[in-house]
This record gives sequence, C-alpha cells and structure tokens, in this order.
Amino acid sequence: MSEEMRTFGYLCPKCGKTVMAARSVFALEASNAEIECACGDSALRVEFDGENYRLYVPCGLCGQTHTAVCGPERVLRNATALGCAKTRQFCAFIGPEGTVEKNLRELTILAEKERRRDGEDPEAFLDSVIMYEVLSELKEIAARKDGITCGCGSIQYGMEIRRSAVDLVCRRCGAKLRVPAATDRDLDDLCCHMRLVIPGGTRTERN
Ligand SMILES: [Zn+2]
Ligand SMILES: [Zn+2]
Ligand SMILES: [Zn+2]
Repeated sequence: MSEEMRTFGYLCPKCGKTVMAARSVFALEASNAEIECACGDSALRVEFDGENYRLYVPCGLCGQTHTAVCGPERVLRNATALGCAKTRQFCAFIGPEGTVEKNLRELTILAEKERRRDGEDPEAFLDSVIMYEVLSELKEIAARKDGITCGCGSIQYGMEIRRSAVDLVCRRCGAKLRVPAATDRDLDDLCCHMRLVIPGGTRTERN
C-alpha cells in the first residue's frame, strides 16, 4: 500500500512562482517539515510539538510570513486553506494534490491582479490600473479600421508612454495627441471615442 501523502502549496513572495510539495503523513507526525521554493529564498515551515502544528507561511500576496496553528486533523486530513491577515485572502493550501494545485492556480491570478493594483514600480505610473486599461482601450481603438489616424493623412504613428499619459505621435508630421491616463475620468473619456485623430497639420501633400 502506498503511503498517505499531504500536499502543501504556496506562492513564493520572492520569485512569484508557485511552490508545491508532498510529505507523507508518517513523516509529518514524526518530525518538522520544510517546503522550500526552488529559488531558495523562501520556505514554508511546519513544526509539530506533539499536539499541534505551527506553520510559517511565506505570503505571496503581502510579502510577509504568516503564522498559523492548526490541529492535526487540519494538517493531516482535511483540505485546509491558510489566510493572509493583511489581504484577507488565502495564501497557502494543504490537502490532496489536485485541490492544492487548483487553489494555487487561482492564487496566482489573484496575486497578479494585486501586483497590477500596487504597480510593480510605484514610480512607473501614476495609476497602473488606469494605465493598463487605457493601453488596452487604445489597442482596441487601433484595431478598428482607421482607428488612429493623423490630420495630415498618415496612419503611421508611434506611442510614447509617460507616467500619467500616453502620447500618440504621427510618424509623418510629428504631431502629437496626448491621451491622459491618470484617473477614471480619463478612461471614461477615452472609451467614448471610436476613433482618434492626431491633430496633425492639415497641410496638403500637393507640390
Ligand atoms: Zn521562490
Ligand atoms: Zn499575507
Ligand atoms: Zn501627421
């Protein structure tokens, strides 16, 4: 008979990858365990004092390490999720492999959203969510026929991303259309436009 196994999973706050490993119930009853990320910079620790389990969970959502005390039934039998006190989301899972894997996948998506909200680099954009939305809206407008054109007649343009705006620059005449990307209103304004016209020179190409 194969040994009964328990899978532990969390999201590494250092490298952002999911970490998953199984330990046998026998081993968990006998000694402490450590589930280390392949990057070597974080590890989920499980300590057993003969009565309860104390878990140290590196949190991929807030970056801190959370401590949880669980009875043996939670660690050795049921499917258990451990919460992050800061984000009020689950940040680690214990249970059958399939359950842990599925929950980790959802956690990865959640963490990605949180990152976008925080901004990878706080200096980069005034509001990274708005910037992200504005860029995807621009992409949609650009995908329409003649979605982005210049008054000079050109349909060639470049995009310069600034801290709180996106500049569309005509490649032929150099005219510029600034699309603000700082507030919800900027986004609403942009969404009203089916097409954008860079206010390029109306000068004709005649000789
Ligand atoms: Zn890692
Ligand atoms: Zn946390
Ligand atoms: Zn132009």
